[in-house]
Amino acid sequence: MDFDDTPDEAAFRAEARAFLDANARRKQRDAAVQRYGDVDDTRLAEAKAWQAKKAGAGFACITWPDEWGGRGGTQMQQIIYNQEEAQYDVPQGVFLIGLGMCVPTLMAYAPREQLARYVPPAVRGEEIWCQLFSEPSGGSDVAGLRTRAERDGDDWVINGQKVWTSGAHYSDYGLLIARTDANVPKHEGITAFYLSMKSPGVEIRPIHQMSGASHFNEVFFSNVRIPDAQRLGAVGQGWKVAITTLMNERLAVGEIRRPDVDDLLTLARLVELDGQPAIVDRAVRERIAEWHARSQGLNYTRLRTLTALSRGETPGPENSIAKVVNAAKMQAIAMFGMDLLGMAGAVSDERLAPMHALFQNAMLSSPGMRIAGGSDEIMRNIIAERVLGLPGDVRVDKDVPFNRLPSGRR
Ligand SMILES: Cc1cc2nc3c(=O)[nH]c(=O)nc-3n(C[C@H](O)[C@H](O)[C@H](O)COP(=O)(O)OP(=O)(O)OC[C@H]3O[C@@H](n4cnc5c(N)ncnc54)[C@H](O)[C@@H]3O)c2cc1C
Repeated sequence: MDFDDTPDEAAFRAEARAFLDANARRKQRDAAVQRYGDVDDTRLAEAKAWQAKKAGAGFACITWPDEWGGRGGTQMQQIIYNQEEAQYDVPQGVFLIGLGMCVPTLMAYAPREQLARYVPPAVRGEEIWCQLFSEPSGGSDVAGLRTRAERDGDDWVINGQKVWTSGAHYSDYGLLIARTDANVPKHEGITAFYLSMKSPGVEIRPIHQMSGASHFNEVFFSNVRIPDAQRLGAVGQGWKVAITTLMNERLAVGEIRRPDVDDLLTLARLVELDGQPAIVDRAVRERIAEWHARSQGLNYTRLRTLTALSRGETPGPENSIAKVVNAAKMQAIAMFGMDLLGMAGAVSDERLAPMHALFQNAMLSSPGMRIAGGSDEIMRNIIAERVLGLPGDVRVDKDVPFNRLPSGRR
């Protein structure tokens, strides 16, 4: 891998940095970190304003065509911009699912006139999208979903329930998969749609999480009507559409979140163990060294992805590796930080707790990271099958009509 920017990449990096210097503040390592999923009205307004500013300057959705509000740029430019933006204190997360997963799926399946209507407002942050896939009986096995879509004239009528829908409570549109035929095997009877989250019959109930945030929701559909024009892909081809979304999801969820090894070093210098700074303790040093090695492994794995992208190749399954290692590492670091904090770990008020309760918050939100976007076990299955070429998971229900499965009977 050549670690240096090409002249074009260096020029783009300078342009991105100039924009960020003029419009945002550099991150302070000792400042409070936003709790994952904590989005109130003020944060939502800030996130929308920042997205609009980025879009105005040509830094939103860099790889998307100009005509939809993007820049027609390269994947490398998007990565360079992300690297630079990560050093500034700007709102994060609100648009991740919409712009990272839902709108790219729309761009792959919706006709031009619909893209002209929906893509530019999404890029400018005026309209937010959510992903309505998971259900109580369909998470890892999302093709086991039971929400029904029945044809009625030019419309489809939706009944059922989704769960864990991130940001549904502040979203304007949702990407939905529903069962349109229960007489065929589960993957073949699904159809994809998009709908306004303000449609009559949509009820959104926030789920209160142990971290204190209400990041995701239950969403109920009672006779919700969706025009057939808002169907994505052919009837019964929704699984193919969902794969487009899920491939984008795997790319989006590999990102690094704090606390990282540097935060742990700061904490180990701050707190005492047996009357001296914890960093002096050999066992503490050993644990930190282990996570440092793991972080470096992740960095180099990520650089492999960058190398593939900079050569115009499609990256391999490295992101599944990054996701499974990253989420577990974040949780382990959070738990070790809590051990070091001792009694102080019980204080979760960000104004009082050491390091603005970074470790306390991470302890409560990191288990979700091991589930969102594919649980550890599912990621390991992917790595086993697609990287190591091991035999596939046992799928006895694969060819059985959905309504003949015990879980598929109504
Ligand atoms: C923070 C967060 C945000 C989310 N946001 C969204 C969203 O916006 N939209 C959306 O649609 N969904 C969302 N989800 C849901 C997420 O996609 C599911 O939680 C996830 O796919 C797991 O499904 P499940 O919760 O039903 O668990 P299950 O699938 O029931 O899994 C239970 C356990 O069984 C294991 N397991 C399941 N199948 C296998 C197998 N074949 N082999 C080995 N082990 C297996 C799992 O690893 C897990 O440990 C979110 C989840 C979280 C935590």
